Amino acid sequence: MTYTLPKLKYAYNELEPHYDALTVEIHYSKHHQTYVTNLNNLLTKAPTNFREMTLDELMVNLDKLPTDVATGIRNNGGGHFAHSLFWEQFIPHGKAISGKILELIERDFGSFSQFQEAFSNLAKSNFGSGWTWLVLDENKKLKVINTSGHNTPLELGLKPLMLIDVWEHAYYLKFQNRRAEWIDSFWNILDWDYINSRLENYLR
Ligand code: MN
Repeated sequence: MTYTLPKLKYAYNELEPHYDALTVEIHYSKHHQTYVTNLNNLLTKAPTNFREMTLDELMVNLDKLPTDVATGIRNNGGGHFAHSLFWEQFIPHGKAISGKILELIERDFGSFSQFQEAFSNLAKSNFGSGWTWLVLDENKKLKVINTSGHNTPLELGLKPLMLIDVWEHAYYLKFQNRRAEWIDSFWNILDWDYINSRLENYLR
């Protein structure tokens, strides 16, 4: 299996003014591409059966790989997984939240605004480079969690629904040190229909 950069559903400038064109272009065509290239190179050093796995399978079988290859695949496979979901969850101008995802957010966080606050506060407190995720746990309950580097919730048996990249490369060109502004801005471009479809798949 050779991995490729997934096609974006929008042009680089279509997430403006919330996510600027230059950051999207560099983040996608340079940073994300590097993780894909590195992942493909690393897989040539992994046992054959690892090359036939899906990315999700690969990320939950890292403990079966030699340590040096496993670390590289955790970083670059995790990077490819997280960034693919990151791009997929966006839509120009955003889409309003409704359906099952809203129902479960209200059940597990009290209200949408309480969820937003919990998620944003966690993202703001994520020290160094990492991601903040909305996940479904083994009891079908929603949770927000932080991971560092490119570690994914898949390894913890959690199902990822949406996420924010808080590595500096995700926001520094426009927001510089103002990570909180990037996190506030991010809410304007989410495609809740897509996030809801991920949830429905996991609940099936
Ligand atoms: Mn990134």
